[in-house]
Amino acid sequence: MNAFKAHYFDGQTSRLHEVEVQRLDAATIRVVGDGIDRSDPASSLRISPRLARITRTIEFSDGARVLANDHPLLDSWFPHEDRLQRITDRLERHAHAVAASIVICLAVGIATFAWGVPWIADRIADQIPAGVETRLGSEVLGQLDQYFGFAPSQVNAKRQDALSARFSKLTAGLPDAGHYRLAFRDAETVGPNALAIPGGTIVITDQLTGLFDDDREFDAVVAHEIGHQQHRHALRQTLRSSFVLVIAALFTGDVSSASAIVIGVPTFLLQSHYSRGFEEEADAFAFNTLAAHNTSPAWFAAAMRKLDDFHHGGKKAEGGVAYLSSHPSSAARIAAAEASGEAFISAHPDQIRETPGYDACAEEGVCPDEDEDDSDCDDESCLDPDEVDENSDDAEIPDPEASR
Ligand SMILES: [Zn+2]
Repeated sequence: MNAFKAHYFDGQTSRLHEVEVQRLDAATIRVVGDGIDRSDPASSLRISPRLARITRTIEFSDGARVLANDHPLLDSWFPHEDRLQRITDRLERHAHAVAASIVICLAVGIATFAWGVPWIADRIADQIPAGVETRLGSEVLGQLDQYFGFAPSQVNAKRQDALSARFSKLTAGLPDAGHYRLAFRDAETVGPNALAIPGGTIVITDQLTGLFDDDREFDAVVAHEIGHQQHRHALRQTLRSSFVLVIAALFTGDVSSASAIVIGVPTFLLQSHYSRGFEEEADAFAFNTLAAHNTSPAWFAAAMRKLDDFHHGGKKAEGGVAYLSSHPSSAARIAAAEASGEAFISAHPDQIRETPGYDACAEEGVCPDEDEDDSDCDDESCLDPDEVDENSDDAEIPDPEASR
């Protein structure tokens, strides 16, 4: 049998013709039946590729079509010219191949999300001019003040100036040192927190300044936030999280539309977390900066412990709001900070007194004079450790008088 049944449409009307398709010779195909009788050179016809059990179509040069169930004759009459088509067809007939394709598609999709989107987001972040980022930052700060319970700081001006001076020392020498500034805010509902918002501003809550007993803990946290600023983490992470905006910016070519992410930044900063890679980058920056300023990186560990105690009561808890929710592996980071602190002391043995908790009296016999007037002692490090512990509870609520 050198023929098969099929349906024929003439390309002019929607009428279906029951026909038989025959091959007259190696080069000629005939369609006959139901008032149709035409013969065409096989080379003038186009046949749709075989896809599983999908009906195949033979297209004629005048627009007419034959629809037929897949038939072995079709392959012998129209041998595949396209090798890829043949391979595709073979793959589609094998369940394993289909399963493998699904796995590959999923893997490609996941890889796109895991690496493609961050890569694109970073390229977009690179294109956002500094001026736009600064405006974005002030809008973010406005949103924090308006909707997220941030209020004017209760910390007195003298204390703010002192902390700002420490901050300036840490940023001095950075390529964009002029962009950085501290913003103090009272944020009772947020608690001890530091936020690096786009454009160089680092927001410090009164609850954070009140939590620490030693200004080197403040330095450590601030250095970490400067690290986030240096690498523009807030902008990059929010862009990464705003996949739709990233894609929209790609299609419209309008990167300034990405500044619409202002709505997402405060929520991100307060409730989401940076990627582990970003945190490690900011930590490494903090360790190097502290060491460069003759401060042991172990102060970062001391600060983290206090934050951890405050937010999680020392227990490992998930989902706490604020600073530590953005630092999921705090135990590992504390260990890294302490290791970095030990490395610092081995490299600078003369700085041993920079180690948190270092007791010069016990270690070196350098004890404070008991008759010394306490009023000369304007630094927390002068306080007796027990006394510091007693005070730390009060320190949660910043008291302008008590702030140092
Ligand atoms: Zn961080």
